Amino acid sequence: MGKTLVIAEKPSVGRDLVGVLPGAYEKHEGFLESDSHVVSWAVGHLVQLAEPEEYGPQFKKWRMADLPIVPDQFKLVVRDERSKKQMTVISKLLKRDDVDDVINACDAGREGELIFAYIFEKAKAKKTVQRLWLSSMTKVAIRDAFERLRPAEELSTLEDAARSRSEADWIVGMNATRAATIRLRSSFDGAVSLGRVQTPTLALIARREEEILAFKPEPYWIVDAKFDADARRNYAGRFHAGAQPRVKTAAEAEAIVADVRGGRGVISKLEKTKRSEKPPLLYDLTSLQREANTRFGFSARRTLAAAQRCYEEHKALTYPRTSSRFLSSDMAAEIKPTAELVGHNREYTRGAEYVVGLDVLPLGRVINDAKVTDHHAIIPTRSEHKLDKMSDDDRRIYDLAARRFLAIFHPDAVFENTRLETTVAEHVFRTRGKVLLVPGWRGVYGEGMDEGDKSDDDEGSEQRLPKLEQGEDVDVREVELEAKETKPPRRYSDASLLGAMETAGKLVDDEELREQMKETGIGTPATRAAIIERLISVGYVERDGRALVASDKGLNVIRLLGEHALTSPALTGDWEKRLEDIEHGRDSRAKFMADIAAFANATVTELDAKLKDVKIERASMGPCRVCGAELKENRKGFSCWSREDPGCGFVIWKAKAGKTLTPAIARELIDTGYTAKQVTGFKGKSGRSFRAKLALRQSEEGKWRVEFDEAWAQDGGAAAAKPPEPEEAEAAATAAAGEPAAA
Ligand SMILES: [Zn+2]
Repeated sequence: MGKTLVIAEKPSVGRDLVGVLPGAYEKHEGFLESDSHVVSWAVGHLVQLAEPEEYGPQFKKWRMADLPIVPDQFKLVVRDERSKKQMTVISKLLKRDDVDDVINACDAGREGELIFAYIFEKAKAKKTVQRLWLSSMTKVAIRDAFERLRPAEELSTLEDAARSRSEADWIVGMNATRAATIRLRSSFDGAVSLGRVQTPTLALIARREEEILAFKPEPYWIVDAKFDADARRNYAGRFHAGAQPRVKTAAEAEAIVADVRGGRGVISKLEKTKRSEKPPLLYDLTSLQREANTRFGFSARRTLAAAQRCYEEHKALTYPRTSSRFLSSDMAAEIKPTAELVGHNREYTRGAEYVVGLDVLPLGRVINDAKVTDHHAIIPTRSEHKLDKMSDDDRRIYDLAARRFLAIFHPDAVFENTRLETTVAEHVFRTRGKVLLVPGWRGVYGEGMDEGDKSDDDEGSEQRLPKLEQGEDVDVREVELEAKETKPPRRYSDASLLGAMETAGKLVDDEELREQMKETGIGTPATRAAIIERLISVGYVERDGRALVASDKGLNVIRLLGEHALTSPALTGDWEKRLEDIEHGRDSRAKFMADIAAFANATVTELDAKLKDVKIERASMGPCRVCGAELKENRKGFSCWSREDPGCGFVIWKAKAGKTLTPAIARELIDTGYTAKQVTGFKGKSGRSFRAKLALRQSEEGKWRVEFDEAWAQDGGAAAAKPPEPEEAEAAATAAAGEPAAA
């Protein structure tokens, strides 16, 4: 009898599979072998779509006349040298005569399907394939999955969707990027990267930045008072005209203060209402990433990495790249045993005991077969969870998922809301109180009411109120006004951007409504973190603490594209829906690809016309500080060089430690010699972003250079990300300063 070849997505998973399969395994270069099985692995994507030049040498040059490039048959190439080695191993194994059949054990999703399909195609393999479909990496789950292998044909539509996604990204990205880069060569340094998913995402961020830039703050005032019902019962209130807390002029606010000061008021209204709050749904990846960003400031990528380790290494959480927030009905019997195992760790014991002790589990918001396709929600696995083996990040992500899993079987939390109005000299002050009556599911978090519901709406914060009566008289102990300004809309964080991507840019707060919009978002849960990082790596977006800020280049790209369909979240959402439909056999791959090709064709024509005569306004920077000639912005820097005059050699290079310095920064450096504030968006060698002040300094040979101007340790609170070691920053600075000169 021949052997079965198993191909996993990465080496660690290969080893886990071997741990479950029977027999003794011998180690070889790149694979493991027993009497019955050969187990090998990819290292992520080993094979990818070839670049245009593989289709013809003419495509090496970027020329408008050659666009659009739409291959009839896509070619595959091995990714790089490292991949080549492993690909050779797998190809040989696939061709071995004693290998009868193959098991695709790559990650159970669209990307895993693609990784295997490309390897199989590139190796020109012909053997029968079965699919190992894993949602949990525990031994029991793996053994179970080996007993329930699926014929590859069952997943052919998933492969169709995977190939369509990959080819559509190639066609749209390749053609739009080439067209824009060709037309904008004189304006931008380097390629103008555009893409099916990255460009609408950039548009969300850039359009928000435009709103912020255009925002004109307006002054307003609020008036706060403190009231005493008696010596012990005090509370605060905020002046409201109707529902409006904002007072338009200082004079008005001062008049209110004068009327009220030292006066006596009456509690003119006191309303109590009870409100119950359902436990939140289980996590899918996007909601987990959003929560971890809000709570801990984790980037989407950091959360995904931690969740992936909890799945693969610790075997403590189920498959993270899921878009489902429900479990399937056949999992109902697993719930109590899983909760019991979670409860073995002390911090979860109480919550777990409650769940295990329930006669009937409330499953209405947990089980929904229609909403579980490839994978269910992220929950703890049915195994022991060794928390002390987890890193701090992994521990926190596990904690979120474990508590959420226990919380959903708990009853609603019940609050008592109090709305109070105090009238003083005809001025009305409002007060809001909130008391948690029944902790319910919130008890699992042991925090009562938290949430620090800090809204910007000037409504006034929620207070713990003493016992008060309607009609009661109160003294005004204190009254004061505060001058404020209207604030621009907030920049996106990872959390709010993920939310906007999920709903294709529409504002939807309601959790259940969000559920319905899922299939038409930008990108998929599995890829969103990578899209954000991609925008950062091409220099369109910078991180400033938790905020995602569009760079000048990012802003300019979206300004130039204007309302082009490529910037439209709705269009991308439609495409995403069609990929989903292809995956479920409801749409045809051929038709989708034809539409994508037509779109690429139209895009090339439009970009050609639209960008033909575009000139980006170059900033004039005033006189050179050395020779006095006019300093100008060019592609790579700011210098007194011009076509007619080579100038004195003074230059401030734009590229510095992964960031492009803007004219405003250069101007400040030229005027004052340093930046008053920290400049954001630098990248250390480790890839971490940091912010730092800059200074313009002269070397002994008289050369001017931009350097970092601060000791890293100081001002510790400011930077969310730790700055790199001083030597590293120095090295990065030197490299950045040297790079453009050499180019
Ligand atoms: Zn000069």
